[in-house]
Amino acid sequence: MAIQWRRTVGQDRIKGSFSRSVANGQIGHAYLFAGKSGVGKFSLALELALYFLCESTQKPCYECAGCRKVLAHSHQDFRYLFPLNFSTEHKVKGNAQKLSDAGWDYIAEEMKKRLRDPYYALAPGGSISVEWIRDMNQAISRGASGSGWTVVIIDGIDTLRAESANAMLKTLEEPPANTIMILLTESVHGVLPTIKSRCQIHRFGSIEPEHLAAELNRRFPDRGEDIPRITSLSYGSLGTAIALMDHDETGDSAIARWFDIAFSPADPLDQALALEMFVEQELDKDFSRGMKIVNALIEECRFAFLHRYGSGAEYIFSSVAATRLRTLSPDDVKQVIASAEEALISLKKHSPMLMVFVNLTLKLLEISNE
Ligand SMILES: [Zn+2]
Repeated sequence: MAIQWRRTVGQDRIKGSFSRSVANGQIGHAYLFAGKSGVGKFSLALELALYFLCESTQKPCYECAGCRKVLAHSHQDFRYLFPLNFSTEHKVKGNAQKLSDAGWDYIAEEMKKRLRDPYYALAPGGSISVEWIRDMNQAISRGASGSGWTVVIIDGIDTLRAESANAMLKTLEEPPANTIMILLTESVHGVLPTIKSRCQIHRFGSIEPEHLAAELNRRFPDRGEDIPRITSLSYGSLGTAIALMDHDETGDSAIARWFDIAFSPADPLDQALALEMFVEQELDKDFSRGMKIVNALIEECRFAFLHRYGSGAEYIFSSVAATRLRTLSPDDVKQVIASAEEALISLKKHSPMLMVFVNLTLKLLEISNE
């Protein structure tokens, strides 16, 4: 029975591959979906879960009891885990591993948002609690009930801490029959080799601009005039595009402002002062914006490569940065990407924003002056 894909935008190659596997009865027990945020990894994984747990003939139907229970997160054969920023009130006092009632409520709240819209972005910097993994292990070892399948989706598999990863590995090594685990990551390099080696890997690329624009038109029918600009700013990520449509006018201008400071030749003292003011005004209140800027720099580097090899490179964000990056050698651009990735790691560890941006800006200067 073919899979009735309804909600995942683009990614036709991967959809086709799963449609064929299902038709041939060749279902793996562990998959790793890799790709940047907002390109549809979770959406496609959720549609697969619905397919296996749907009780109708046209699967998934989104209407039967099975589909509804998955979407309400009350299906006992479905688990979805994702990184969250748990605070002390979410943990039981004196036992940092155990989630309090407030912790489980927090999971339920965030879960509702993710299931309502699979492209709803996760907040950066979270982690998966080990107790949540243990709950999943129990569900798997209990075995499937009605449908015959148990489906587990774990998002942000690269963020698992050692203890959670160990708790999960046993299940991944010896999964009971009819269990499907779908692991999601933005960075395949960050996934433990012991996890990677047990999975079939699917790499998700950017969503094509025409698919992205069509989906934005469907979601925001009155905002036609914003759509071409947002499509080009969101680097093929529907999650980013929705976030930009929803609220983040100031986020865009912050990216442009940083590119101007970092890439425009200026007196070093002026540049340092401009940077300090920028961090204070734009980033100190909004942690996620720092991550967004560094990600935008990495994207810009990718498009600089594409440009070199003759692609139309439609997604170029900042002409100042683009002009500058295109004059660098491929090795220099690689160095810029490496510095940006280091900055992301520092931000995830909650290093001071000003320090991260001063270091990154200095590295850029060093690389482009060599
Ligand atoms: Zn159904």
